[in-house]
Amino acid sequence: MCTIHRIITIGLWCVLLPWGRSLHAATFSFDLSSVPPIAQPAFLEAGNIWGGILVSNVPIKVKVNWFPLGSGLLGITFPNGRRDFPAAPVAQTWYATALANSIADMELNPGEKDIEVYLNATTNWYYGLDAAPGPGQYDLVTVALHELGHGLGFVGLAKKVGTEGSFGTLLASDFAPLTTSFPWPQLDTLPGIFDRFLRNSTPQFLVDLPNPSVLLGSAFTSNQIYWEGPHGLAGSIGSPVRMYAPATFALGSSCVHLNESTYPAGNPNELMTPNGTPGMANHWPGPIAIGIMQDIGWTLMPGIGMDELDHKTIRIWPNPVQHVLNLEWSTPAMHLSITDAQGCLMWSGNGRPSIVVGHLAAGLYLLQVAGEAHPVRFIKN
Ligand SMILES: [Zn+2]
Repeated sequence: MCTIHRIITIGLWCVLLPWGRSLHAATFSFDLSSVPPIAQPAFLEAGNIWGGILVSNVPIKVKVNWFPLGSGLLGITFPNGRRDFPAAPVAQTWYATALANSIADMELNPGEKDIEVYLNATTNWYYGLDAAPGPGQYDLVTVALHELGHGLGFVGLAKKVGTEGSFGTLLASDFAPLTTSFPWPQLDTLPGIFDRFLRNSTPQFLVDLPNPSVLLGSAFTSNQIYWEGPHGLAGSIGSPVRMYAPATFALGSSCVHLNESTYPAGNPNELMTPNGTPGMANHWPGPIAIGIMQDIGWTLMPGIGMDELDHKTIRIWPNPVQHVLNLEWSTPAMHLSITDAQGCLMWSGNGRPSIVVGHLAAGLYLLQVAGEAHPVRFIKN
């Protein structure tokens, strides 16, 4: 599981909790032994920023490698992964271990790091914490925040070889000579939770295409991949959330970022786009990225993001839900249906204030509103 960031012209950097318990800000445990002292505060700052957004009782273990990556690269991040762990919301799906540990509320990977970051030791970095890089300098807090975002789960498992695209076939050797301190997971052609929210323009979820396949490969380079998760969409106020899917596949960059031209420098959602801009700083992930973190399963700190979702015609809450899903709609008497992730009908009926879902098995479900192009996703826990 990984992510690579390249520099092209201006520089490119570029991976449920039980109810009723108290919410603790995520904390980070950094191994900065290879990082020069002047660069270390930027990582602590980036950890503090994510810690103010995400909830976890399990410290997040990050190893940072200060390494000459060569010109054209700012950083590479490898999240550790787990699937089918206790309380996993969606089966047969990879989660970054930082997220899996938060959901399971226990350390699933003792002795292993959660995130392995490589930062280019030869980049012209700005080490200050005040978001004031000089001309030509890359703001290290910004890049560290971006890299940690991948390590926390803003990452997928897409790969394209020739014309064939796949999920879950990444190998450690794809990134040689770089290595991870934790064992590379045997991915078994399974997608990541992030991948499950990607759709094409049809719209069709990419995980519903044959894997591997030329169809999937075409989708990866179609320039038409969108995020179809409720909170990410809410962060864009209902506009489609466009992902980075250029005509030439870039391993670790395609399909794991927001689209650069849609969210250019200065846009509040710029942080998780592939391009970094020297001389500029951004110390907040932005509403779409925060919504995406919530979609993939993170619980947000109080006051962060949105607890409800906004869709074109319907809002549902809470999400994740335990017993009763509340609904509010713009057009009453709409026909509604709920299917599981495999498309099996679980419930159907007309619009109503609430739907009892307590009997459903834990997992991902789709609420379809008649006449709406896209279903609303929610998680039952
Ligand atoms: Zn990136």
